[in-house]
Amino acid sequence: MSEIQNRCCVVGGGPAGVMLGYLLARAGVAVTVLEKHKDFFRDFRGDTVHPSTMQLMKQLGLLQYFLQQPHQVVETVGGVYGNYSFQLGDLRTLSIDTPYIALMPQWDFLNFLSSKAKAYPEFSLRMEHEATGVIEREGCVRGVVVQTPAGEQQIEADLVVACDGRHSRMRQAAALPLKDLGVPIDVLWFRLSKTQNDPLKAVMANINYGKMLILLDRQDYFQAGLIIRKGSFAELQQQGIEQFRHSLQQVAPQLGERVQEIRGWDDVKLLTVQVNRLLQWWRPGLLCIGDAAHAMSPVGGVGINLAVQDAIATANLLWKPLTKGKPRLDDLNRVQARREFAVKATQAVQVMVQNHSIAPALESTAPLKPPFLMRLLKAVPILRVIPAYAAGIGVRPERIHSPDRARL
Ligand SMILES: Cc1cc2nc3c(=O)[nH]c(=O)nc-3n(C[C@H](O)[C@H](O)[C@H](O)COP(=O)(O)OP(=O)(O)OC[C@H]3O[C@@H](n4cnc5c(N)ncnc54)[C@H](O)[C@@H]3O)c2cc1C
Repeated sequence: MSEIQNRCCVVGGGPAGVMLGYLLARAGVAVTVLEKHKDFFRDFRGDTVHPSTMQLMKQLGLLQYFLQQPHQVVETVGGVYGNYSFQLGDLRTLSIDTPYIALMPQWDFLNFLSSKAKAYPEFSLRMEHEATGVIEREGCVRGVVVQTPAGEQQIEADLVVACDGRHSRMRQAAALPLKDLGVPIDVLWFRLSKTQNDPLKAVMANINYGKMLILLDRQDYFQAGLIIRKGSFAELQQQGIEQFRHSLQQVAPQLGERVQEIRGWDDVKLLTVQVNRLLQWWRPGLLCIGDAAHAMSPVGGVGINLAVQDAIATANLLWKPLTKGKPRLDDLNRVQARREFAVKATQAVQVMVQNHSIAPALESTAPLKPPFLMRLLKAVPILRVIPAYAAGIGVRPERIHSPDRARL
């Protein structure tokens, strides 16, 4: 067992962890980011980078390099509800440099960000390092126990930041209390082929026959997400794969014979949606941010962006205390106080959309009538700036105040 001393140990190399590692190292704080996988490649992860995140890239002087990574530009968000086509948001109405969502595979985003972070000597990223528990002394978290290809290690740090996602082992180990907001939906993900000049277009939502299909353009294939009633996957499996293919054609006839590409249930991945948040994000020596502090619903595609905003606020508030040693409990609490309102407000909207728009549509077998708000947004295009702002910029957007040590 070797012991490595560090100012900050970040558990989890997702959007929150890599961004936090980048910003702390940039401010001159020695930081180690632990990621349990050997690379960032994982299928079916959120990949909607919103204007709020791109504005931060601009502030960091990284925007032009970020935009050189493979991505698709999404300017308007809409879909088909029953037979009614709708537009929910138009990002072109926002007066910003990047008035669109960049659909960038998360592994490209993380590879990009970590490659920039590695330019700072204080940054260390350790792949295939899985934190399995916390080291505690006198009621305070002092570091983590890590499983590595070379065996078990202990990493001691003034602060452990749990960025290990919605199934966070760190928050479990710290026994922090969690509030579950309940979710009526799950998502089934699968791939469909794409040809050159494909007539099939990406769509935010096809809603019909008690199902909702989202189709994301991944350049050389489509990533499809079928939103179903929570817990109904077993029922669908019992009905058989042929019936599943048929129901896909019902909800989105434009898929045509492409549904035959789903050969069996191995081609379909269930993602159990959760919406929850910690009542307290910290305890002595440990802070949770990103999905580890608040699992977000896929509604609005805001999860990555909120995780990044948490990282910005954490670096803004903690870089200075960390240069001196262990942050005080007050410092940790200030991070929660800064970010909690944005999380609560965003989750409240997500839960409202899930419960009042998506769940009733999934229950209904009758022909769907578009809700009033949908018709209003179609009739009065200028109003589409409101959802565009809510999703694209969000509540309480952060700006970076942690310094770039190289420029001090
Ligand atoms: C079905 C679905 C669709 C979604 N779609 C979108 C979308 O389109 N847009 C969007 O913005 N958000 C989306 N989200 C949400 C988004 O993926 C998350 O909110 C976001 O990735 C959270 O970032 P994070 O860094 O907090 O955690 P994560 O992205 O979950 O990253 C956690 C990292 O920690 C690592 N890790 C876990 N445990 C350990 C450990 N013990 N030791 C070391 N490493 C560990 C993991 O391997 C992972 O890399 C979606 C979520 C779901 C469920």
